[in-house]
Amino acid sequence: MSECLFCRFVSGEITPDVVAETDHSLAFRDINPQAPTHVLVVPKRHVVNAAELAQVAPAELADVLALAGRAALADGHEDYRLVFNTGFEAGQRVFHAHLHVLAGRPLAWPPG
Ligand code: AMP
Ligand code: ZN
Repeated sequence: MSECLFCRFVSGEITPDVVAETDHSLAFRDINPQAPTHVLVVPKRHVVNAAELAQVAPAELADVLALAGRAALADGHEDYRLVFNTGFEAGQRVFHAHLHVLAGRPLAWPPG
């Protein structure tokens, strides 16, 4: 049994609210949504952050990005924000790479 929450989602040990998946990525709704659409897209491979995924499996990072775009479109959004919080000080709390897909409301810049 993995200690990593998102690995438990990938293995099926815990079932999140899945919206889409590919062979390499899983997209599910964030439990604490910050916008009308707030989906997380994770690589099925355990890596700590996106930069590590780019190093070890760049095609799988591209797959995460492509699935994020499809998830936004499936909710009817052509405009969306993609965020990889990387490191504790940047807000990362789950240390399995995940891409936030935020859409459905105006998004301020810069983020807090
Ligand atoms: P981060 O702060 O970038 O590491 O993002 C972690 C995200 O995971 C947060 O937005 C949480 O709301 C989300 N999260 C934590 N637990 C769950 C869960 N059980 N199901 C879905 N999303 C979760
Ligand atoms: Zn993991």
